[in-house]
Amino acid sequence: MVDRIEPILPGSYLGILGGGQLGRMFTQAAQAMGYKVCVLDPGSDSPAGSIAEKFIQADYVDSAALKEMAALCSSVSTEFENVPAQALDELEALGVFVAPRSSCVSLAQNRIAEKKFLATWKSETNIGPAPYFVVEHDADIAHIPADLFPGILKTARMGYDGKGQVTVYSPEELTTAWNELGRVPCVLEKRMELDFEVSALVVRGHDDAVVAYPVSQNIHRDGILHTSTVPAPSLKPAQEKKIVDAAKALIRKIEYVGVLCVEFFVLKNGDIVANEIAPRPHNSGHYTMDACVTGQFEQQVRAMARLPLGDTRQLAPVSMLNLLGDLWFEGSEDKAKEPAWNKVLAHPDAKLHLYGKSAPRIGRKMGHINCLGEALNEARQNCAAVAIELGIEP
Ligand code: ADP
Ligand code: MG
Repeated sequence: MVDRIEPILPGSYLGILGGGQLGRMFTQAAQAMGYKVCVLDPGSDSPAGSIAEKFIQADYVDSAALKEMAALCSSVSTEFENVPAQALDELEALGVFVAPRSSCVSLAQNRIAEKKFLATWKSETNIGPAPYFVVEHDADIAHIPADLFPGILKTARMGYDGKGQVTVYSPEELTTAWNELGRVPCVLEKRMELDFEVSALVVRGHDDAVVAYPVSQNIHRDGILHTSTVPAPSLKPAQEKKIVDAAKALIRKIEYVGVLCVEFFVLKNGDIVANEIAPRPHNSGHYTMDACVTGQFEQQVRAMARLPLGDTRQLAPVSMLNLLGDLWFEGSEDKAKEPAWNKVLAHPDAKLHLYGKSAPRIGRKMGHINCLGEALNEARQNCAAVAIELGIEP
């Protein structure tokens, strides 16, 4: 029988499903606190698997592998958003404390369930999703309200970094786009007039304690996060409060244990809409690693080990710059180069994080740099300077 109250203390094993960069930074945070980590990932060579005390290479639903993990770890979390719910359920059935549990993770895996969830609780959170319509059958297309165009057709499952999305201007274009996406379940979302994008990062402990980080303002390029700046330069204090309150209400609603990110759009007319949730630490929360008392990965460790949550206070303004595989090439993938790390490392307030991925590829997330400053402007200038030195348009 698992003890559901006592904390899991350093020296114990914690488990993580997924071996990508989020799993690696989780592993590093856990190890810094004296835990051992068991990573399960289907790939032979993963950023987290290569540094964990125990690496199980297996499919997420491999029962023997899950049993092996359960024998070692009294708590397991996930870094891979699309981990099958079945894997989390199997671990829970084996007596493991799974945080967040499968129902919470499933919600974020399906845009239809996610939008419905955001719409359902709008009366309590005060922030709802953009107007949307579910497309699952040909007949649905005829019922779409005309004011959803222009809209963005998004696949219900497996979309990330802007993949699986098509902008459509008419029902005819929608039909074509839906066919191109393989007629899988989708949502058509009204394309909103965005002023800027932000995300809220909240954490809930097993004891219902909830903490929130300062909201970050995010700039995307080609659908991929480019920078996150905190405090959010364009956000008014009343908007920040509204966003943080909404994210706290949502995490409580689903009794989620762990780190949860909620993305929001701030519209040109000042309205705010909720976009999507991620059931794990988030790229836009990497700034916490160097700018806050407790980083988001330590917080993930604390939540799953049933420890009190750490202080989320921000110690310095920060702008995080993502590093994509593009940096390793001169234009195309046939001309390799090494990024100018010497220049970046010459900045005393630029904190470099590389994920140990063996092969850079165009568009692949390879690392990030947290650029700090005494004032917000200084952090932003620092970030722009670092970007220019690496050949990234700031
Ligand atoms: P992903 O899972 O790929 O992150 P998102 O739904 O967050 O998918 O969409 C990616 C980006 O596309 C958003 O960050 C935003 O810039 C833009 N976008 C998405 N939905 C809308 C919308 N309804 N209106 C305007 N822009 C949108
Ligand atoms: Mg997104």
